[in-house]
Amino acid sequence: MAKLCLLGATGTIGDNTLAVIAQQPEQFTMVALTAHRNVDKMQRLCAQWSPRYAVMADDDAAEQLQQRLKHSDTRVLSGLGGLNYVATLAEVDTVMAAIVGAAGLLPTLMAAKAGKRILLANKEALVMSGQIFMQAVQENHATLLPIDSEHNAVFQAMGGQNQARDLKKIILTASGGPFRQKTKDELHHVTPEQACAHPNWVMGKKISVDSATLMNKGLEVIEACWLFNTDSDKIEVVIHPQSIIHSLVEYADGSFIAQLGQPDMRVPIAYSLNWPKRLNSGVKSLNLTQMNALTFEAVNRQNFPCLDLAYAAFKQGGTACTVLNAANEIAVAAFLNRQIKFMQIPHVIEQTLSRMDNQPALNLQAILAADTQARATATALI
Ligand code: NAD
Ligand code: MG
Repeated sequence: MAKLCLLGATGTIGDNTLAVIAQQPEQFTMVALTAHRNVDKMQRLCAQWSPRYAVMADDDAAEQLQQRLKHSDTRVLSGLGGLNYVATLAEVDTVMAAIVGAAGLLPTLMAAKAGKRILLANKEALVMSGQIFMQAVQENHATLLPIDSEHNAVFQAMGGQNQARDLKKIILTASGGPFRQKTKDELHHVTPEQACAHPNWVMGKKISVDSATLMNKGLEVIEACWLFNTDSDKIEVVIHPQSIIHSLVEYADGSFIAQLGQPDMRVPIAYSLNWPKRLNSGVKSLNLTQMNALTFEAVNRQNFPCLDLAYAAFKQGGTACTVLNAANEIAVAAFLNRQIKFMQIPHVIEQTLSRMDNQPALNLQAILAADTQARATATALI
């Protein structure tokens, strides 16, 4: 029976995780649920799942939840201290890392240092701290299983391993997002609502905008380099609008191995929750004979410059990926607040990268300092 800490329980990955667990609740113990400040939703989740701990990252929200749960057995904690505490509890063996953005770094890193089985949805944590994160995983014998559908597909295509022999290429598929067929002129005028209306996936706002700019794919290229211990030259991105093939690997002999499935995050979540065994995800079967054609096309790199910014940051190394990620978070938030236009997102990121000195990313202090400085630089630019 897995003893679970679900970081980011109120988000879309949180919803999908709980939906998979609801298919076979006897196989899981819910030790901890965490959220930022959605007290109403957290109260409902606590009533349904009776976790031993509930953490609200926001202190006021924690106080409100505490009031509402004062007659329950759930202990309410708050802030980063609370997140780190539940991510490292001895009674937890599995941590679902589904906080969005840099806010997830410290609890996820703490879980790695505590040697947990980590189901990694929070790609930003790995992008901003790749080297020290992977080192923490290795030194503490943590297990890292990718939740991102592409990386989960690659992991499956490699037979449930992180590193394959004779691997020639990893091919990450991308739906192309809601703006795949727009001209550059049209892209200047798109709205946050349009950016968040993804054609194939229901996701949180930040990752939806990242999918529209293709920064999501850029972050995934960096994520894949760390997860599968390979250079970015071996990672290719191809547009596959139907989102049925979730990614592929090519071997030296010319074999391509792909993983297919419905575009539904319950599939990779179910796979990782019970790896190496399979669980019922509750997702309906693909009907191959009723499926539309599966098509592929090249990325339009002029219209979606974020992808190449991510490749360049990985090549540069040091704190460049930390800066890329922080500038992107600030630019996306500004776009969602209508302070900047869609096509200014890559501009803010590029300018932030060019204004900051690249530093070696040797320790957590260097990462956090680069993150803070990049946020200030991007904010000033906006
Ligand atoms: P979401 O916005 O729906 O949920 C985010 C969760 O993080 C919420 O529970 C929220 O309370 C919590 N959170 C936000 N800010 C926080 C803070 N400062 N401190 C503590 N907790 C905070 O996002 P999502 O779509 O569920 O995505 C979560 C992560 O999974 C992201 O890193 C995303 O890139 C990744 N991911 C998501 C999908 C998807 O289909 N949604 C697919 C692949 C990867
Ligand atoms: Mg993905």
